Amino acid sequence: MSAISIATCSRCKNRAVLYQRYSGVHLCHRHLADSIRRRVSKSLRAQLKLPKKALRDDGKPRVILVCISGGKDSAVLLDMMVRFLGPRRDIELVAGSVDEGIDGYRAPSLEKAMELASSYGIRVETISYPELEFERMDEIVKMMPDLSTAHKDADGLKPCSYCGVFRRQGLNALAERVGADWMALGHNLDDTAQTILMNLQKGEVNRTIRIAPHTWAPLEGLTPRIVPLRWIPEQEIHAYAKGEDLPIHHGDCPYAPGALRQRSRDMIARLESDVPGSRHGLLHSMDAIRELQVEAKGDHLSSERATERMHKCQNCGEVSSKSICQACIMRQWVNEKSN
Ligand code: SF4
Ligand SMILES: [Zn+2]
Ligand SMILES: [Zn+2]
Repeated sequence: MSAISIATCSRCKNRAVLYQRYSGVHLCHRHLADSIRRRVSKSLRAQLKLPKKALRDDGKPRVILVCISGGKDSAVLLDMMVRFLGPRRDIELVAGSVDEGIDGYRAPSLEKAMELASSYGIRVETISYPELEFERMDEIVKMMPDLSTAHKDADGLKPCSYCGVFRRQGLNALAERVGADWMALGHNLDDTAQTILMNLQKGEVNRTIRIAPHTWAPLEGLTPRIVPLRWIPEQEIHAYAKGEDLPIHHGDCPYAPGALRQRSRDMIARLESDVPGSRHGLLHSMDAIRELQVEAKGDHLSSERATERMHKCQNCGEVSSKSICQACIMRQWVNEKSN
């Protein structure tokens, strides 16, 4: 570690802050920041095809909801979005946050999210689980043993199984509230590789094809997601946020340990350490599968394939792979217990 920290940047004489094993270069903060900005800008241009003038017919700007949590990934996301799109008058950036109701964790992280957004003069919209008629996560966790006993499908679920479903609804509600044309998420390279691995190990190719970015084939009824940080490793995002002194919350959610993603995280870290470049390889493979579909069926048909098993929930109208969406099913379980 000390050998890495005292190394010199491969591009200048400054002290390196990071060693990129997959490329074999050491980078100082300036050169790391330049490199990250270049990659994010390229990724953003590939995902967000904006005309020169993107104003709506009514003369108002197009809206991008930038989802922030107070953590490093979304802080860097907002920094990049402001850097690349902030000067455009035909685009309005609005930050959106979901309050899951986790004592000791969410309040301080939301504070950081607000601090960052206000430093850019960007308004923040928040939504809490109770506003969506879900219980706070702290309450859900207390109820989980009872829910598992009452419902076979609830057995073995982890807090994140509920939280992930509710948060998705929260983001959709925020997108609707602000009239978002796109939603930007802070998923980094490690997150994305983990998601691909988790879906493929379950044989869920369709689900893998549907993960963001959605601009290649928008899912009907869903604000298209863009993920400009998808090629940036978590470690580089951390180093960038630190070097730029972005306000971020460092604590971890108390309910994260034990989640399936945690195991996937370990596996991806191990793969990357054994064969540097594995995370990039997984994303390239998934993109190649998508392209094969587009070539074979044309844009329109490939979009149909991605949405072929999608319905509208009969209860709430949200896009879902089942006739009643998972959020409504879980809400029902919880309501039975609370009443
Ligand atoms: S770690 Fe799990 S429970 Fe905690 S905020 Fe994230 S999804 Fe929710
Ligand atoms: Zn340098
Ligand atoms: Zn529903």
